[in-house]
Amino acid sequence: MSKTAQSVWENCLEFIKDNIQPQAYKTWFEPIVAVKFADNALSIQVPSKFFYEWLEEHYVKILKVALTKQLGENAKLVYIIKMENTYGNKQPFTEKIPSSNRTAVKAQDVDIPLNNKSPELRNPFIIPGIRNVKIESQLNPNYNFENFLEGDSNRLARSAGLAVAAKPGGTSFNPLLIFGGVGLGKTHLAHAIGVDIKDKYPEKTVLYISAEKFTQQYIDSVKKNNRNDFIHFYQIIDILIIDDVQFLSGKSGTQDVFFHIFNHLHQNGKQVILTSDKAPVDMQDIEQRLLSRFKWGLSAELQSPDFETRVSILKNKLYRDGVEMPEEIIEYVAKHIKSNIRELEGAIISLIAQSSFNKKEITTELAKQVVEKFVKNTKREVSIDYIQKIVSDYFQMDIDTLQSKTRKRHIVQARQLAMFFAKKFTKASLASIGSQIGKRDHATVLHACKTVDNLSSTDKQFRKYVEDLTKKLSV
Ligand code: ADP
Ligand code: MG
Repeated sequence: MSKTAQSVWENCLEFIKDNIQPQAYKTWFEPIVAVKFADNALSIQVPSKFFYEWLEEHYVKILKVALTKQLGENAKLVYIIKMENTYGNKQPFTEKIPSSNRTAVKAQDVDIPLNNKSPELRNPFIIPGIRNVKIESQLNPNYNFENFLEGDSNRLARSAGLAVAAKPGGTSFNPLLIFGGVGLGKTHLAHAIGVDIKDKYPEKTVLYISAEKFTQQYIDSVKKNNRNDFIHFYQIIDILIIDDVQFLSGKSGTQDVFFHIFNHLHQNGKQVILTSDKAPVDMQDIEQRLLSRFKWGLSAELQSPDFETRVSILKNKLYRDGVEMPEEIIEYVAKHIKSNIRELEGAIISLIAQSSFNKKEITTELAKQVVEKFVKNTKREVSIDYIQKIVSDYFQMDIDTLQSKTRKRHIVQARQLAMFFAKKFTKASLASIGSQIGKRDHATVLHACKTVDNLSSTDKQFRKYVEDLTKKLSV
C-alpha cells in the first residue's frame, strides 16, 4: 500500500498520543495538518512560527522517533508555516474577521533535517502543570460597573464592556479597545469588565495586567531563558486585560511576543481587552500587524464627561463617602474641572480634607481656592494649533499662508517662529511639529529653531517678534 501524507501522519499521531499528556496532544498536535509526502519527506502545516518553534523545542525528539519508525533513518520533516492575512488599514469600527476566514497568503517552508542534533527536551509537560496553577486575576473590586457612572461621554465603551462581560469571547468586540485621555476611566472600566466576568463565570481565568508590567515580565523571561513559559502562561488565560498598551510603543520584542499571544487567544475564542491613551490610528511605533489586530474588534472612546456627568460622578463619590456638600459647591467644582475625572475627584477630596482639618465650612470661596490650585497645577500645555493661530494672527496672515510652500521672507519667518515656539512650549517631537506645520520634516524644524536663535541675537526687529509672541503665548 502506498503511503500518503495523511496515513503517515496518522501513524505518527497514534504513537505520539500514547506518549504525551492528552492536553499537550490536543494543543500541539491536533492543529497540525499533513499536506504532502514525497521523497521520504513529510510536510506538515503548523498555524504559526511560534507553534513551529514550540514543536522544535519540546517535541522534536518524539517527532523524530515517530517518523523514523515508519520511514527509516533518512526520513525528513518539513514544516509549512501558515501565515495569516494581515488586514490593512481599517476604520476604527470594523467588523470582526472570523479566524476561519483567514487564508494562507504565503506559505513559508522550513526544512529541518531530523538527524540534526535536537535541542534539549526541557519541559514538555508544562501545559497540564500550568493548568492546575490558580492564576490571581489582579482585579480591583472597587472598580466595578456599579460605580462607573454612565454618560454620553462613555456610553458606547460602557455598553460594549457590559456586552463583553456578558459573553466574553462571544461577541464581535474582540479585542475590545478602550481609548481616551488621562483620567477618563480606562483603567476603571477595564477592571469593571473583569470583575463582572469573574462574578458571572467564576471558573474562567481572568488576568489584568499593565502593559508596563507585562513588558517587565517578558524581559525577565528572556533573561531567565524561559520565554516560552512566559508565552504559554499567557496563552492559557481566558480573559486577558492589558492596560495602557501605548506603553508597548517602540518595544518590538514585547510587541512580537504579544502578537503571538494575541493570535493564540483570539483563535481560541478567548477575550482580549486593551486600553490605550490613543486611538489605533494615532499610535506610533506599534507594528502594523499588531495595529491591524487592534482594529479587528471594537475601538471605543472615552471622552471628556459633560457637565451633568461630572456632577453625578461627584455626587456619587460624596454619597459613597457619606459626605454632604451644598449643591452650588458641587456645581462650581464640576464647572471648572472639565477634562479629567481623576482631578475632579482629587479636588473634591481635597475640599473635604480642607474643611475637616481646618474645621472650616465649605464655602464657594474655599472651593474656588482648591479648584484654582488644581487648574493651575494642571494647566494645559499650549497646542501647536494654538501656536500657529497666535503667530499667524500676529503677522496678520491666515494659517494656510503660514503653512504654504512659499519662500516669501516674512512668511518663512512666521513659519519658523511657529516651529520655534512649538519646540519651546510643547513636548512634541521635531518630526511631529514639522508634520503639523505645513508637512515639513524634522530637519526643517531643527533649522528653523537655529535660525530663530541666530536672528534674535542679531536682528533687533526679530527679537521684538520673539518677545511679543512669548508674552502672548505665556498668558
Ligand atoms: P484612566 O485609566 O483613563 O487614566 P482611571 O480609570 O484611573 O482613568 O480613572 C480615574 C478616576 O476617575 C478613577 O478614580 C475612576 O474611578 C474615576 N472615574 C472615571 N470614570 C468614571 C465614571 N464614569 N464614573 C465614576 N468614576 C469614574
Ligand atoms: Mg489608567
